[in-house]
Amino acid sequence: ASLGDGLVVRGIHAGYGEMRVLHGVDIEVAAGEAVCLIGANGMGKTTLMRCLAGLLRPYEGTVGFAGRNLTGLSAAARVREGVALVPEGRHVFKPMTVQENLEMGAYKRLWPRRDPKVAADLAHIYEIFPRLKERRTSLAGTLSGGEQQMLAIGRALMSRPRLLLLDEPSMGLAPRVVQEIFAVIRRISAEGLAILLTEQNARMAFRTVSRCYVLSEGQIISEGTSEKLAADPAVKAAYLGI
Ligand code: ATP
Repeated sequence: ASLGDGLVVRGIHAGYGEMRVLHGVDIEVAAGEAVCLIGANGMGKTTLMRCLAGLLRPYEGTVGFAGRNLTGLSAAARVREGVALVPEGRHVFKPMTVQENLEMGAYKRLWPRRDPKVAADLAHIYEIFPRLKERRTSLAGTLSGGEQQMLAIGRALMSRPRLLLLDEPSMGLAPRVVQEIFAVIRRISAEGLAILLTEQNARMAFRTVSRCYVLSEGQIISEGTSEKLAADPAVKAAYLGI
């Protein structure tokens, strides 16, 4: 795993018109590495994820992945480059079935011709998430919050990413469900996929990723290994409730 194959984010300034949110963010995720961006509500985590996925154009700064400059590319082009986002709030297609949602994640490989490998990828997703297999003909809107989060992750994996962006995967979920989601994140990380996730609650993230950044008011104020940050008194007070 080297940075040349990973994500390199330099000097991102971004926001919404006059509302400036990010003030020069630099982060890196090596190939196969799992990294967390910790930050309280409203500190700019989602804004950064949107810049990385190509959903928001930053005022300044660059995004590189696997040696390619993604800065000007559309969201669809970034998916082709191997970057997939699991958005905050899941955004599954509620009137479609579970399987149709998963297939949407591979839509480039379904039309105009169906790539036979899509079936194998679906089988792999169903092996990771047996619950989705059970519910494959159910409408996504009838799933529980945890099941919808699993579906959103599965849909992203169907694009065969090399970097998975997970924006607050634990949001609104019961502790037991959060544990299940993080167990899956650890598994796909162990399979070699690079992961960048955001969290408000650092406890689960520290057990899952090797390295973290702390984002506060649009700037990275601290970074280091999970062990180092978990022992930092300021981090404990702000993000572990200690
Ligand atoms: P959350 O936990 O709520 O997702 P966050 O760290 O992801 O928090 P962002 O969603 O990036 O924070 O929001 C950062 C700031 O930008 C907040 O003050 C928010 O109100 C503001 N903001 C977010 N989206 C917009 C928008 N579309 N237009 C204007 N301001 C916005």
